[in-house]
Amino acid sequence: MKLDDKLYLVRFNTDKQNHIKIADNDVCLKCQDKPCTRVCPAHVYDWDEEETRISVGYEGCLECGTCRIACPTNNILWQYPRGGFGVSWKNG
Ligand code: SF4
Ligand code: SF4
Repeated sequence: MKLDDKLYLVRFNTDKQNHIKIADNDVCLKCQDKPCTRVCPAHVYDWDEEETRISVGYEGCLECGTCRIACPTNNILWQYPRGGFGVSWKNG
C-alpha cells in the first residue's frame, strides 16, 4: 500500500484551534531549504510565494513530531491538539 493510500485511512476530529504556529515569519524568509515543506508526510507546510510566509494546514497533522526536529531554528511552535481532537483513528 502506498503512503498516500495509508494516509487516506486516517480519520481526524478537527479542532478549530490551530495547534501549530510559526514563531517568526522573518526567520522563515531567511531559511534556505525550508525543510518543513519537505519532511512532513501530511504536507502541512507550504511556502506561500504571494504572502512570503509558510502556510500551515494544521488540520491534516498526523502528530508524528518530525517537523519539530527538522526546523533548524526551532521556529515551529507545536503542541498536541486539545483532548478529543486531532487524529482519531489510524489503520495502516
Ligand atoms: S524549517 Fe522552520 S525556519 Fe525553515 S521555513 Fe520551515 S518553519 Fe521556517
Ligand atoms: S507533526 Fe508530523 S504530520 Fe504534523 S505537521 Fe509535523 S511533520 Fe507534519
